[in-house]
Amino acid sequence: MRDIVIVGGGAAGLAAAVFCARRVGGERVLLLEKQARVGKKLLATGNGTCNLSNIHADVSHYHTDDPSFVQTVLDGFPPQEAIRFFESIGVRTVVRDNGRVYPLCAQAAAVLDCLREEAQMCGVETRCDTAVTALVPKNNAVTVVTEQERFVAKRVLAAVGGAASASLGGSSEGYGLLTALGHVKTPLFPAIVQIRTEREAVKAVKGIRVDAALTLALDGRTVASCKEELLFADYGLSGPAAMQIGRVAADWERRKKGRLTVSIDLLPDVDAADLKADIRRRATRAGRTLETMLTGLLQKRLGQTVIKAAGLSPLSREVTSLSTAECDRLAETIKCWVLEVTGSAGMNAAQVTAGGLQTAQFDPKTMQSRLAPSVYAVGEVLNVDGDCGGFNLQWAWASAFTAARAMTEELV
Ligand SMILES: Cc1cc2nc3c(=O)[nH]c(=O)nc-3n(C[C@H](O)[C@H](O)[C@H](O)COP(=O)(O)OP(=O)(O)OC[C@H]3O[C@@H](n4cnc5c(N)ncnc54)[C@H](O)[C@@H]3O)c2cc1C
Repeated sequence: MRDIVIVGGGAAGLAAAVFCARRVGGERVLLLEKQARVGKKLLATGNGTCNLSNIHADVSHYHTDDPSFVQTVLDGFPPQEAIRFFESIGVRTVVRDNGRVYPLCAQAAAVLDCLREEAQMCGVETRCDTAVTALVPKNNAVTVVTEQERFVAKRVLAAVGGAASASLGGSSEGYGLLTALGHVKTPLFPAIVQIRTEREAVKAVKGIRVDAALTLALDGRTVASCKEELLFADYGLSGPAAMQIGRVAADWERRKKGRLTVSIDLLPDVDAADLKADIRRRATRAGRTLETMLTGLLQKRLGQTVIKAAGLSPLSREVTSLSTAECDRLAETIKCWVLEVTGSAGMNAAQVTAGGLQTAQFDPKTMQSRLAPSVYAVGEVLNVDGDCGGFNLQWAWASAFTAARAMTEELV
């Protein structure tokens, strides 16, 4: 019989393997990963730079069915502990804007290598290309069924991740291992995801990046807002600003109740009254046309697109022909360009899964299943998702630490 089998060699599974190995010895830990390599998703994090934590991680940055569950887990392994842990395996870290923690070398591959090497040096046995198809608890033990063979273990940790980003191993199959034991899964939808809008309006500005403030409104009522870098895409809005609030668009998409719009403030640091005065001044420059009216204020293609969105055309029109009301309408459109939202870019494009296994069926002090006491679950498979900014990896480490401490307790 094995002592500990960890299912899933992603962020949480790898960290849990190291935590367990350090307490009871790696030879007592078996890590099973369905893909050819461990940590495929980890490699893609932070655009390859791995935003591995956030010093402001507290429950206000998480979405879940039970905030106190999340807080208990975070309290047991706060960001400072994560930083200490990574330094202990050789990853020097740096805190950047908004409390985001990165490896100093800015390489996700280095984070993965250090985790993998530490697990290996502690003696953890890792088997890749090994998909677990069922967990069968019986008499204080669990049979772990894979396509190749079966393992009987005293403790099993499900670190199978979420459904987001299928190309990096995301799948909804992992949830099935636990729902088969009676666990309840809340509806899944994409989080940290791009926003789809009416295409006609944005296709001309595809590829343009701008610091902007976005506001999502449901039937005119503000439901989310964010000020960060925005990237226009041919399907709608991407970049950190859109990803941060894309969860709301995805949640709306599955319900399709009401009208969701996004308003874009293209110059969030410019006062509305100042902008009106500026536009009125620009309209006095004889000999100029709308085509170059916003040059020096907005990127050319973006400026021209906003002029059209304000209903001012053609671009060959002399700026001096604009009425004061038209000037003000242009300034207002720059501050509040409203687009219809049609949905999100979907689960495959998402970084994280919203929804998951109901937390009430797990103990936050141990991550132990309340239905099958030899089974534990951590990471994204649970109904916990964090904001963009290192909060999801912090959740992976913190939950992995909590489970590892509990699973090894009686084995020490
Ligand atoms: C492109 C991208 C960028 C991201 N950037 C960041 C970031 O910078 N900061 C941040 O905090 N978060 C980021 N995230 C989110 C973060 O990567 C995840 O929340 C985190 O990896 C979840 O950890 P996990 O261990 O629960 O799941 P995963 O890391 O997904 O690991 C689960 C593992 O289990 C394996 N598995 C699944 N089912 C089975 C099975 N039946 N048998 C065996 N193995 C199985 C999978 O193949 C996978 O390797 C990003 C996500 C993506 C997609």
